[in-house]
Amino acid sequence: MAEWFPLPQHLTEPHPGHEAHLCMAENVGFVKNNLEKYKDYVRNPQFVCKNCGRAAARGENLCSPDAL
Ligand SMILES: [Zn+2]
Ligand SMILES: [Zn+2]
Repeated sequence: MAEWFPLPQHLTEPHPGHEAHLCMAENVGFVKNNLEKYKDYVRNPQFVCKNCGRAAARGENLCSPDAL
């Protein structure tokens, strides 16, 4: 299980930039293993993901961001 986020490799599937998306963070176990670091990404959210409903401080961390 990955201990870091964003992933070091650049992903083009399912879309460019997915290595930095919070969905990926959850998929690789980052949320469970690094909850305190994960909080930095969701603290003071400015965007919500139209796919999964996650919120993030920066749109680049969501698959389909929409401004709050
Ligand atoms: Zn999402
Ligand atoms: Zn994504």
